[in-house]
Amino acid sequence: MMELDLREELAEFLAAREAELIAFRRDLHAHPETGYREYRTTSQILRRLTSAGLRPVTLPKGTGLVVDVGDGPAGGPAVALRADLDALPMPDEKNVPYRSTVPNACHACGHDVHTTVLLGTALFLAARAAVQGLPGGVRLIFQPAEEVPGGALDVMAAGSITSVERIFALHCDPSLDVGKVGTRTGPITGACDKIRVKVSGLGGHTARPHLTADLVFALGKIVTELPAALSRRVDPRSSLSLVWGEVSAGLAANAIPEEGYAAGTVRCLDEQVWHQAPALLEDLVDSVASSYGVAAEIEYTRGVPPAVNEPASTAILEAAAAQVLGPDALSPAPQSLGAEDFAWYLESIPGTLARLGTRTPGPGGHCDLHQATFDVDERAIGVGVRLMAATALAALRAGEPAASDRLAAVAHA
Ligand SMILES: [Zn+2]
Ligand SMILES: [Zn+2]
Repeated sequence: MMELDLREELAEFLAAREAELIAFRRDLHAHPETGYREYRTTSQILRRLTSAGLRPVTLPKGTGLVVDVGDGPAGGPAVALRADLDALPMPDEKNVPYRSTVPNACHACGHDVHTTVLLGTALFLAARAAVQGLPGGVRLIFQPAEEVPGGALDVMAAGSITSVERIFALHCDPSLDVGKVGTRTGPITGACDKIRVKVSGLGGHTARPHLTADLVFALGKIVTELPAALSRRVDPRSSLSLVWGEVSAGLAANAIPEEGYAAGTVRCLDEQVWHQAPALLEDLVDSVASSYGVAAEIEYTRGVPPAVNEPASTAILEAAAAQVLGPDALSPAPQSLGAEDFAWYLESIPGTLARLGTRTPGPGGHCDLHQATFDVDERAIGVGVRLMAATALAALRAGEPAASDRLAAVAHA
């Protein structure tokens, strides 16, 4: 009967609060703030949580906040839910009353929806805790600067997940109908790093390349041989790929230059290969450069790793979705080449990232993330609140000693 109760409770809560949540989202949408500038957004959330009797704590850099609901153990809550707050530095080209009022800032990735869903979840869990208590504490993380990226690392540096055993998040998916939730075990997003190679050698006259390091030729070899060699050095299923976007060397047709550059991106779908990528590329660059007598320096800038969804956490979220949204709500999610800094949390604790359908069913109306006209079917907010609240409660129950004993007994049987 517990399941029916939760569904009914959520329906009652949303009947009373959904309009307020949609208005909250539209206010954020009209006042978007880019990474590390989310001051107004932070204060709006802070005010609403405080008025519900909660005690949010702003993160050290001044944007983003963390709030605990329910009585966790002394060390802090074991279950965390995370939303991201930041908008993108691009214009909003929609013609809607809640269109961005800030030049060159737009919630084109749906983070206003994620934030509103988490606010609604906090309000629901707080109301439930006041009436019947919670099986444990839940930490709600309103993270800044996902698009920068780096906000996840700040949350972790502030010690906000030290007690946390499982973490959950969702992301808008405009290719999925509203009401649907996309899930996946294993990697769900990709990695994107940047590489810059500087080659240097003795310059000179093009009439006498043997007295110089033929730098432009060597740079050309690095540019063509690196992507080809990579595909032979790692499992092709990892989809590790290097694509150059910038190459430069030289100023005159008859002078061999002393320096040249190539820069590009390294994308990868596999977490282990991603960890090996910098050393592998360094090796390859060195071996090509040394065979042509030039020196090479490599500058490798890490983006985020692929987000790898842990099976048990994914199963908890799927069971919760089936419970409050119905089994038909679940849909298998493909792995995206896009990057998501939630991956940083998943490198240190188990958890899962789900896709929240935001598309209005029916023909037309297709839009994509990071488009200037991106918008959502706002019924997704209620769906998200149902999903996140049920997931948090299910994860708490899964973490109860009795439940772990039962799981252990099953495992040993
Ligand atoms: Zn984005
Ligand atoms: Zn995003």
